[in-house]
Amino acid sequence: MPEKESKNLNSQTVTLTNYNVCEGIETEIKTKNSLTIKEVSGTGKKGAVKIDIVVNYCKGCEICVAFCPEQVLIMNKEVAEVVDISKCTKCNICEYLCPDFSISVE
Ligand code: SF4
Ligand code: SF4
Repeated sequence: MPEKESKNLNSQTVTLTNYNVCEGIETEIKTKNSLTIKEVSGTGKKGAVKIDIVVNYCKGCEICVAFCPEQVLIMNKEVAEVVDISKCTKCNICEYLCPDFSISVE
């Protein structure tokens, strides 16, 4: 995929390297300070929701997958991934339980 754009976020350069739109769900792969952040946004059960997963920090413990009450997340190899953002209730349980601060929901 071609690079889409670069923009400044919190005074740090963020480069969008991938951008997909599929049935109202947007996925962006960002690189920031050598970190790869997979950002999925769409409409969940409580309205607009965005889930960020810092791929480099995820150690594949599967805690977020096991405790998400709505089965929003799955494991893709050793990294957590959003499989159905439309079910997300923004309860933030995944974010609270992740031991490596790899996942955030807003
Ligand atoms: S809880 Fe955190 S470290 Fe564990 S699989 Fe989920 S995102 Fe990765
Ligand atoms: S915020 Fe809640 S519903 Fe959404 S992915 Fe995390 S645990 Fe699942």
